[in-house]
Amino acid sequence: MPSRVAVVTGSNKGIGFAIVRALCKEFEGDVYLTARDEERGKKAVEDLEKEGLHPKFHQLDITNQKSIDNLQKYLKDKYGGLDVLVNNASIAYKVKDVAPFAEQAKVSVACNFTGTLDVCKALLPLIKPHGRVVSVASLAGTWALEKMSPERASKFKSPSLTETELVSLLEDFVNAASDGTHTEKGYPNSAYGTSKAGVIVLTGMQARDLKNDPREDILINACCPGYVMTDMSSHQGTKTPDEGAETPVYLALLPPNVGQPQGEMLSDKKIVKWR
Ligand code: NDP
Repeated sequence: MPSRVAVVTGSNKGIGFAIVRALCKEFEGDVYLTARDEERGKKAVEDLEKEGLHPKFHQLDITNQKSIDNLQKYLKDKYGGLDVLVNNASIAYKVKDVAPFAEQAKVSVACNFTGTLDVCKALLPLIKPHGRVVSVASLAGTWALEKMSPERASKFKSPSLTETELVSLLEDFVNAASDGTHTEKGYPNSAYGTSKAGVIVLTGMQARDLKNDPREDILINACCPGYVMTDMSSHQGTKTPDEGAETPVYLALLPPNVGQPQGEMLSDKKIVKWR
């Protein structure tokens, strides 16, 4: 029988690396540290080997469809599916970054939202019964939903919103950012926040769609790791990466048949209301 298997995206450093560390200790099965850069990924595996842990490695760039397809085929051939997926990979511009907002919106949405969506499209069909999917979002995403105009927010929060409509909303945000009309159109002034709002809404939608799925007991949730000392936060923050990994790991290891949380956004292991 193939081993159980877990995959963590963007895990050569930061919170993703700490999630792999924790899963190596707590998950019964193979744990894949993935990275867009093979050298950085393999170095990270070596670092965990020095701690007596044995993650495996696979290359994955979430913005590259060929890379996603390669991982999908590998998992299908070697394991016949996937038990745990943690969507952790993301980028964030620093506050002082001088890149135009239009560029920040385009690049942030392409990686954080579209990249996560593309990984989900490829890997959710592989998730086995009792599988767990976690998308590391951010409270910046729930704040972005709060800062939208009521009309815009109601579109994001509509219980009947489809994936195609959500993709169109994010495209509309990027287009509005490029001509400077995003605030006029009711979007918040945060590229990162809006991309993470997309991930939170996507997670709710994916959980809703699982209701009609014959596979048993799959749970999918989003979370905020907290304010964590990593490269992304310029090593500011209140949590170590291991502490930041706690909520994502809790969701990745929810025991069989607990039934919930499902389609929620969590912070410090508690549900955050955003709808
Ligand atoms: P880091 O910047 O330290 O790490 C991000 C990781 O994502 C790196 O491994 C990076 O790889 C990888 N990555 C970026 N783009 C891609 C891509 N296209 N394909 C694959 N991997 C990619 O960030 P954190 O560890 O702080 O963040 C982890 C998660 O937590 C993110 O989703 C972030 O948004 C979220 N978060 C973090 C907070 C914090 O305070 N730190 C607060 C709230 C949420 P590379 O080394 O090659 O760049």
